[in-house]
Amino acid sequence: MRSVLVTGGAGYIGSHACKALKAAGFEPVTYDNLCTGWRDAVKFGPFEEGDLLDRARLDEVFARHRPVAVMHFAALSLVGESMQDPGKYWRGNVAASLNLIEAAVAAGCPHIVFSSTCATYGEHDNVVLDEHTPQEPINAYGASKRAIEDMLRDFEAAHGLQSVIFRYFNVAGADPEAEIGEFHRPETHLVPLMLEATDGTRPALTVFGTDYDTPDGTCIRDYVHVCDLVEAHVLGLRWLQAAKGSRVFNLGTGSGFSVREVMTHAQAVTGREVPHEIGPRRAGDCTRLVSGSTRAEKELGWRPARSDLDTMIADAWRWHRAGHYTR
Ligand code: UDP
Repeated sequence: MRSVLVTGGAGYIGSHACKALKAAGFEPVTYDNLCTGWRDAVKFGPFEEGDLLDRARLDEVFARHRPVAVMHFAALSLVGESMQDPGKYWRGNVAASLNLIEAAVAAGCPHIVFSSTCATYGEHDNVVLDEHTPQEPINAYGASKRAIEDMLRDFEAAHGLQSVIFRYFNVAGADPEAEIGEFHRPETHLVPLMLEATDGTRPALTVFGTDYDTPDGTCIRDYVHVCDLVEAHVLGLRWLQAAKGSRVFNLGTGSGFSVREVMTHAQAVTGREVPHEIGPRRAGDCTRLVSGSTRAEKELGWRPARSDLDTMIADAWRWHRAGHYTR
């Protein structure tokens, strides 16, 4: 069977990608050091525990599985943490990805699908972002992802490694069958925190700032359902296999929701109040990050099917009540 090496396959997005890859006829081989991922989330193919900074281990896994491509999800992804400890991000994202990319080239693996981020764009007042928007990150997380994008361009020029780069906006929701879902420890993401506050697992959600230049003062984000997001990755893999060449795609829905709006929808979906308090701004947060996905729709034929906010919250709520992982 055609294997795909999925770095971060034990994490939130990576585990959903494994399920989608298996459904598409590939064998997803998870490579994960479990620093934030969960062994219980690896359900759809083999698990190779390992660190991206361990080149010998990477070489061994490439030799054993001979993957036709890499899907590279493994990353540190907390904006706030990246501002406090940038070295962790340059090492854990940039140096780790360099190791992976060099191992892929050495093994003759021709294709990589890379998880990048809208945080590479930085602040652009009141524009809908597209792939041509200048990349001017305002936090170390975004800067580390932009550096990896540059690295991929250099490695293609020198070694022919082709890539599809997806710049994600905010990802939410869970597998509608609730086999896998979003679970971080500590949790820092808006939707799961809101649901934990809703069911009393935590006392309250803190809203990070109500003095932004938006209609209700809270930050605006473009949320995409995790299942739609990973479907784009399968399309990206097929794109590379059809020899269409390297390409960058934004994955957003074109509509943004403020933190307060997400709370209102969560109350409607769950039928419960979201206990919350107002706190200060979080360092590194952009006011508004919204993108269309015209290019992904036109060129890849991507059709987000579950990315309306109520469906995302309902799927996240079902997963939240169904269970969680243990180490
Ligand atoms: N947010 C918040 N309280 C929290 C966590 C997040 O108000 O406890 C806000 C955050 O400031 C941002 C939005 O919710 O505007 C989404 O944050 P998240 O951390 O989920 O994703 P990010 O935008 O950082 O990728």
